[in-house]
Amino acid sequence: MNRTVTFADGTVVPAIGQGTWFMGEEAHLRRQEVTALQAGLESGLTLIDTAEMYADGGAELVVGEALLGRRDSAFLVSKVYPWNASEVDAVEACERSLVRLNTDYLDLYLLHWRGNIPLEETLRAMETLQQQGKIRRWGVSNFDTDDLQELMAEEGGKSCATNQVLYHLASRGIEYDLLPECQQMNMPVMAYCPLAQAGRLRRELMEHPQLQQIAQQKGISRAQLLLAWAIRKDGVIAIPKASSIAHVRDNAAALNVVLTSEELALLNQAFPPPGGKQPLDVV
Ligand code: NDP
Repeated sequence: MNRTVTFADGTVVPAIGQGTWFMGEEAHLRRQEVTALQAGLESGLTLIDTAEMYADGGAELVVGEALLGRRDSAFLVSKVYPWNASEVDAVEACERSLVRLNTDYLDLYLLHWRGNIPLEETLRAMETLQQQGKIRRWGVSNFDTDDLQELMAEEGGKSCATNQVLYHLASRGIEYDLLPECQQMNMPVMAYCPLAQAGRLRRELMEHPQLQQIAQQKGISRAQLLLAWAIRKDGVIAIPKASSIAHVRDNAAALNVVLTSEELALLNQAFPPPGGKQPLDVV
């Protein structure tokens, strides 16, 4: 059965969505990116995560094209830069995102990371956008436990729908405190970089013998194993970015992969869970 995650307001989304960082950077890849996102929607990856930052609005244009004629089949997430997160600027930034995305509402709007603008101001902007029907709900990203506590102390702070943070098998710090706290607050966590993105860490992770062995024995890809691992706990939504149909379909099939306690124990041996507080990992 396909894994799902339920927001505090009862809205259900698939436990795996689609990221878009680095989409919209190159014109010659645009068609492929649009097609990949559409294939993802058709395969059940209906949550799409983007941001005004990605390709300086270019990723939102790609998403807008992918959603032409099928906007309501998606759960659309975008993010505001911290320096645009004031009471007035955030409303204008959201309106610009809506134009690029070719829609009149976002399902979820996130503060991309914490900057210098007081949280209270950002909260007021989010409430205004909600009242205007431009966003259905709001959340934050890259908030560690202390940031989250400050947010909860603000008037209206408890309406925060999600915290989007880095989480993958080789970066498990949030399991010590942030993830349990979010689960206790009934606030789903969105796991970004669930495939550890490109670079050294990704190679180390992907080529780890334990990961290779379990994936091979189970008859799944290593990416599927990493995604199934990321969503194994309640309240976690993984948002891998894939710009090929083959990768998208591979990722969608991970919604049905269940890891056994023996497999999880082997992965714990190779990549131990945190034994204490770790500062939040960020890209
Ligand atoms: P991911 O961990 O999702 O890795 C993306 C890479 O994995 C791409 O190179 C992609 O290749 C490859 N890939 C995807 N599917 C497969 C597969 N089945 N098999 C093999 N390789 C695969 O990294 P991201 O940094 O993109 O993170 C995911 C999303 O999270 C972002 O796109 C963005 O939406 C969000 N994010 C949010 C941040 C924040 O601060 N809030 C920070 C970073 C990311 P290809 O493209 O060729 O398919």
